Amino acid sequence: MSEVLTVGGRRIRPSKILCVARNYADHAREMGTAVPEKPIFFLKPTTALLPDGGTVLMPTDVGRVDVETELAAILGRGGRDIPETDARHHVAGYAVFFDITARDLQGKARTEGSPWTAAKGYDTFAPISRGVLASLVKDPHALPIRLRVNGTVRQDSNTAQMVFRIPALLSAASRIMALERGDILATGTPAGVWPIAPGDVLEAEIPGVGTLRCPVAARNR
Ligand code: MG
Repeated sequence: MSEVLTVGGRRIRPSKILCVARNYADHAREMGTAVPEKPIFFLKPTTALLPDGGTVLMPTDVGRVDVETELAAILGRGGRDIPETDARHHVAGYAVFFDITARDLQGKARTEGSPWTAAKGYDTFAPISRGVLASLVKDPHALPIRLRVNGTVRQDSNTAQMVFRIPALLSAASRIMALERGDILATGTPAGVWPIAPGDVLEAEIPGVGTLRCPVAARNR
């Protein structure tokens, strides 16, 4: 899949997918959790990536699985300890991203104090659209973000609602780990996360960035 991810027609190979928990206040509320005082990061494996049009394979033995629609920033330049004021120069492009989440596994992990690796890491749990060049996106923090499941709107918000904006996220993350060219930052989801089922069709749009459409099927093993 890493060969399929493109930004402005150029191929990008991510070394990691960096995600943020509870970065929209309304989503934190629907999860019954507090808005964090500083960004909470977790990673998804790059093996979870799926191109636009690909099929999300839903494990059927893990209970509820949700779709979360997110704006992703794709890095054109890496770095460590990136100052917030420089961070936007590290972004090559933006894309529409689904953070597919095995919600019951995540809830169990929360209770146990265990990592979210299983809840977030299944193959096909990171669908991403083609990337649009950052220079073509005037303001990544003023974009409508919508999800339809089987044609019905389930998420309808705006990236202006993010708690921590992209420069703050990149700066904070780069103080933990080196960021590399191609890395994907998924910036969190608004309210309305929705349980998926085999046979569903997930369609997201962020006007000015792109669209992402994925059918869902059961994962047979
Ligand atoms: Mg998410």
